[in-house]
Amino acid sequence: MAFPDREIWFVTGSQGLYGAETLQQVAEQSQAIARELGEALPVRLKWLPVLTDAAAIRRVCLEAGADDGCVGVIAWMHTFSPAKMWIAGLDALAKPLLHLHTQANVALPWATIDMDFMNLNQAAHGDREFGFIQARLGVPRKTVAGHVGDERMITRVRAWARAATGRAELGRLKLARFGDNMRDVAVTEGDKVEAQLRFGVSVNTYGVNDLVAVVDQIDDAAIGELVEEYEQLYDVAPELRSGGGRHDSLRYGARIELGLRAFLGDGGFGAFTTNFEDLGGLRQLPGLAVQRLMADGYGFGGEGDWKTAALLRTLKATAEGLPGGTSFMEDYTYHLVPDQQLILGAHMLEVCPTIAADTPSLEIHPLGIGGREDPVRLVFDAAPGVGHVVGLTDMGDRFRLVANEIEVVPPLEPLPRLPVARAVWRPRPDLATSAEAWLTAGGPHHTVLTTALGTEELTDLADMVGVELLTIDAGTTLGQFTKEIRWNQAYHRLAQGL
Ligand code: MN
Repeated sequence: MAFPDREIWFVTGSQGLYGAETLQQVAEQSQAIARELGEALPVRLKWLPVLTDAAAIRRVCLEAGADDGCVGVIAWMHTFSPAKMWIAGLDALAKPLLHLHTQANVALPWATIDMDFMNLNQAAHGDREFGFIQARLGVPRKTVAGHVGDERMITRVRAWARAATGRAELGRLKLARFGDNMRDVAVTEGDKVEAQLRFGVSVNTYGVNDLVAVVDQIDDAAIGELVEEYEQLYDVAPELRSGGGRHDSLRYGARIELGLRAFLGDGGFGAFTTNFEDLGGLRQLPGLAVQRLMADGYGFGGEGDWKTAALLRTLKATAEGLPGGTSFMEDYTYHLVPDQQLILGAHMLEVCPTIAADTPSLEIHPLGIGGREDPVRLVFDAAPGVGHVVGLTDMGDRFRLVANEIEVVPPLEPLPRLPVARAVWRPRPDLATSAEAWLTAGGPHHTVLTTALGTEELTDLADMVGVELLTIDAGTTLGQFTKEIRWNQAYHRLAQGL
């Protein structure tokens, strides 16, 4: 189980008219379904007693909102639950909601069915009553129909459960920025008050020398142990190894890592940013340290990009335990040969080794900007696989997510002179359409690349935070995409109200 400390609550709606015997059968069937569903989810599914009146419904909804371990609520109307009973509860519910439309039996018992069976198994209209009140109240939710033995239904609920855990993580995330935004850059800016209101993430800036003070205090013994770990985990360049001519640079890289870990750990931070223009007393731009912290689940954004850092932490939490990797990424340069068009993505240093195809090599090379000593970094190619790049922008009056479905592929040839980790991918539906759509949407150059998550988790997450998600995939045409942007602009302005 990927999230043993997180729960989803399973509530069942009914009413008192049926009598104790029928309600007992409702409870037993509901428990059986919750048990089977729970085995397929990455979080604990907590079954709650059947709800039959407005006061109990409201109480459960309030308790779900107040419980930090509860990341979402699944509701199923096993029988008919008159929906005015749900108004106060749904109005008070402060957690993501999934409306599960299911029933206990698969086949109709044609030969034996009688009115008792009909009265017990009437989700077909009980859930319609519930669907109406959710629509009437405008309650954000995901609706999933199917029997618990149906893999499609399970897959859809599982994606939602993952998104709910990511949403919970974003809601409590603390993010530390070391220095401000890169000067004059637009897309990495944003409204931090709106972000805290909309997402829950708190974003605060620290003087980089606050970090330097911690880095400088790290003791040599700890650095020695960490350098030994590097030598076991990576192909360390001979000049960086113990006794090598540049071993001191590796030791300083380890010092930065230990300092960052101490600073972030002490402050309870789950994400951070750096800015090469503002390194204070740091002797190297943090490269290796950032890469290893990302691999441990921290969110990161370069050049002060806190939006991408928050998104990375959120998507890493959503993907916890899944195969594939999730990294900070930047669209860098193109291969425009007809019929084999590709994007080469990288960053100055900071690409997460969870997407590496093979054991990274640990190297040192000059860095053209920043004006500091040569930084140590992990170098690797990204593992092939289907995935997404996802970007978060601030459009002034609201946030926008843009996602492009991609296929990470091996580089067409080795890249022996490129001293950074990188990913090569084929965007869908094709490079020209993808790029035209991305640019039309105002998507950022910094993204999160994930080969662990699919469109469904991303869509559920966007719905939970009430943020637009524009998806570019195999079916995208520019004309339709452009219209979608226009419609969305109107919708999101109206949906926000005054
Ligand atoms: Mn950048």
